[in-house]
Amino acid sequence: MAIKVLIPTPLRQYTDKKDAVEVNGRTVEELMKNLMSKYPQLERHLYAEDGKLRSFVNVYVNDEDIRYLQQEHTPVKSIDVISIVPSIAGGVEINDRAFVGEVRLSNEEIQRYSRHLIMPEVGIDGQKKLKASRVLIVGAGGLGSPLALYLTAAGVGSLGIVDVDVIDVTNLQRQILYSTDDIGRSKLDVARERLRRINPHVEIEPYEKRLTADNALEVLRDFDIIVDGTDNFPTRYLVNDACVLLGKPNVYGSIFRFEGQVTVFDAKRGPCYRCLYPTPPPPGLVPSCAEGGVLGVLPGIIGSLQALETIKLIIGRGNSLVERLILFDALTLKFRELKLRKNPECPICGEHPSIHELIDYEQFCGIQTQPLNSQNDQQSKISPEELKARLDRGDDLFILDVREPHEYQVCNLGGYLVPINDLQQRIHELDPSREIVVHCKMGGRSAKAVEVLKRAGFQNVKDLIGGIDAWATRIDNTMPRY
Ligand SMILES: [Zn+2]
Repeated sequence: MAIKVLIPTPLRQYTDKKDAVEVNGRTVEELMKNLMSKYPQLERHLYAEDGKLRSFVNVYVNDEDIRYLQQEHTPVKSIDVISIVPSIAGGVEINDRAFVGEVRLSNEEIQRYSRHLIMPEVGIDGQKKLKASRVLIVGAGGLGSPLALYLTAAGVGSLGIVDVDVIDVTNLQRQILYSTDDIGRSKLDVARERLRRINPHVEIEPYEKRLTADNALEVLRDFDIIVDGTDNFPTRYLVNDACVLLGKPNVYGSIFRFEGQVTVFDAKRGPCYRCLYPTPPPPGLVPSCAEGGVLGVLPGIIGSLQALETIKLIIGRGNSLVERLILFDALTLKFRELKLRKNPECPICGEHPSIHELIDYEQFCGIQTQPLNSQNDQQSKISPEELKARLDRGDDLFILDVREPHEYQVCNLGGYLVPINDLQQRIHELDPSREIVVHCKMGGRSAKAVEVLKRAGFQNVKDLIGGIDAWATRIDNTMPRY
C-alpha cells in the first residue's frame, strides 16, 4: 500500500529532488524504513546513532504529530499524508492594563488610522491598544523589514529592534527597509530614519547589540510581544527561553529557499519552540540562508504574517496561531497547517522543567566559540592569504570546490567541482597523495567535506577559511560576491 510522504526542501537533495515520495508500510516505522532503503542518504539526517528519530525532526500523519499518536507505531492508511518537518537555519491580555484607558489619539492619528477605525474589529479601542503596545523585533533583516514597516504603519506605540549588522549589498534583494545608498551604514540607524518617516507617532527603540544570555531578559522584559526574525539557531533558542521565562508570547517565523514556517509560541497557553524542537540540529546539517539561499519575496510573506499575528494578539481579535504551525511552500503556493501541542516533557515549559535560567546557546547549538585551539584543527585550515602565497610560489595544490554548479558559474578559483552532496560517491575521482585545499562559499560545506575526506583516509586536506567569499574580499576585489 503506497503512502505519500512529503519531503521538505532541505531534504530533497537526498530524494532526487522529489518533494513527495510514495512508499509502502503499515506503520510510520515501516514507512520510514522503506523510505530510507530507497534513499539511504536520508538516514543520518533523520535518525541519530542510537536508532531514534532525531529530536529536531518531527513526523506528522496528516496534521497530527506522531509523538501524540502512537509514535513510530502509529498505523497509516493509503489516504494518509505523512509530513517530515525539520527545524529550519522564526489575544494576549497584554494591554488590559489601566494604561490603555489613558491613551488618547490625536485628530491627526484618528485620520491616519481611519481605515482601522471604521472596522468594528479594530475601532478606537483596538487602535488605542496598538498605541499602548510595546513590540520587540529581534533581527532587522528579511523578516524584520516587513515586520517593522507594517507594525510602524499600523501604529504600535513602541517598537524595539535588536540588530548589530551593517547593510551589505546582498541584503537588498529582500531586506526592503534598506536602499542602495545605505550600503555600509548601520541597519538600525537607517531603520529608525525610514520608520520615522512612515509614522512619527511610533517610538522606535534601537538595541544595537547582540542578544546574549546576559542581556536578553533585561532587553525583552519591557515588551509585551517578542517577534522572532532571527536567522540562526542560538538566537532562536535564546529568544524562546527568555520568552518562556518572562511569560511573553513569541511570534515565530523562519524561512529557507522557498519554504517558510509561522506560528505563535506562548507557553502560558500552548507550546514553545522547544516543545517542537527540543534540541538544535548539529552545525552544518541545516544550511543557513547565506549558504542555501532564500527567494526575495518569501520573507515578505512570512514577515507580513508575523506582523498580522502580532496585531491580532494586541487587539485581541481572531484566532491566533497558538498551537498551529503554518507551512508555506512558495513553489506550489500552498499553505499547510499542522497542530502543535505542548510537550509535558519540555525542558523549559513542561511539567518538570530542568531549565530555569538562560544558558550558553552557542555551546548548546554545538558552535565552536574558541577559534581553532587544537593543533590538528590549525593544520587543516588555510587562510586566503596563505593560499595566494602558495599558489604564487607554484606549490602543487589541488583545489576542490564543493559548491553547486550554478555557484561555480558566478565565480570560481578554477578548482575541481564536486558538490558536497556528491562527494561521498565521487571520492574516487580524487587523488589521496595530493595536497587538497577545499572551499565552498563561506566555509560551512567545506568543513563537512574535510571531515568526509579525512574519514576516507585523506591525510593532506585543508579547508579555505571563509571560502571563496573571503578570497573575493581579501585577495581578488574583481571577483563578484554573491
Ligand atoms: Zn515547551
